[in-house]
Amino acid sequence: MKRLVLASANPGKLREIEVLLAPLAIEVTAQAALGIGEADEPHATFLENALAKARHASLASDLPALADDSGLCVDALAGAPGVHSATYAGRNGSREERDARNNAKLLGALAGSGDRRAHYYCIMVLLRCADDPEPLVAQGVWRGEIARAPCGAGGFGYDPLFYLPARRCTSAQLDAQEKNRISHRAQALAKLLACLGDENRA
Ligand code: IMP
Repeated sequence: MKRLVLASANPGKLREIEVLLAPLAIEVTAQAALGIGEADEPHATFLENALAKARHASLASDLPALADDSGLCVDALAGAPGVHSATYAGRNGSREERDARNNAKLLGALAGSGDRRAHYYCIMVLLRCADDPEPLVAQGVWRGEIARAPCGAGGFGYDPLFYLPARRCTSAQLDAQEKNRISHRAQALAKLLACLGDENRA
């Protein structure tokens, strides 16, 4: 595989995935650079949404496509916002405005709750072509807690609220390299690339 399209329009994700793919001899192009719009994500599972995104990008570009579907799952909220993480507090406004509203809504939903456990979940799907019957699929889980107030300016989305007890900081306080070493996305992509490597060696 010499070239692939990244099936995401989220600049935070693109930044992280592009860094992780940089050492490979693969030319990586974000779907927006090819004029491809965002796919619908109508499904109840991360896996189905990731497949839909990858298929959409591969069909439109005629290239292999890599998609990530991810979200924050909070124990005390029965796994919400989950697959609805991006639009938990509505679809209006810029990405930054949505992120700020999402974080405020999450803090409100957990007000008074002593159970702050949460995890980020990421599923990565690689389709070699739009109708690839054997997608490569890998997942990553990153456990933490929901802080009582936002802290830190790095990362994106819920990072200012995602507290890592072992490090005594939120994921927005990690430097970008460190987040990209341990995150749900980094874990999923490392597994997926291992599968790709196995396949290329076989
Ligand atoms: P998707 O584009 O439907 O996969 O949306 C993923 C959403 O989950 C993002 O818009 C964020 O709200 C949240 N999310 C996923 N990964 C992260 C992360 O690494 N940091 C912060 N928020 C994340």
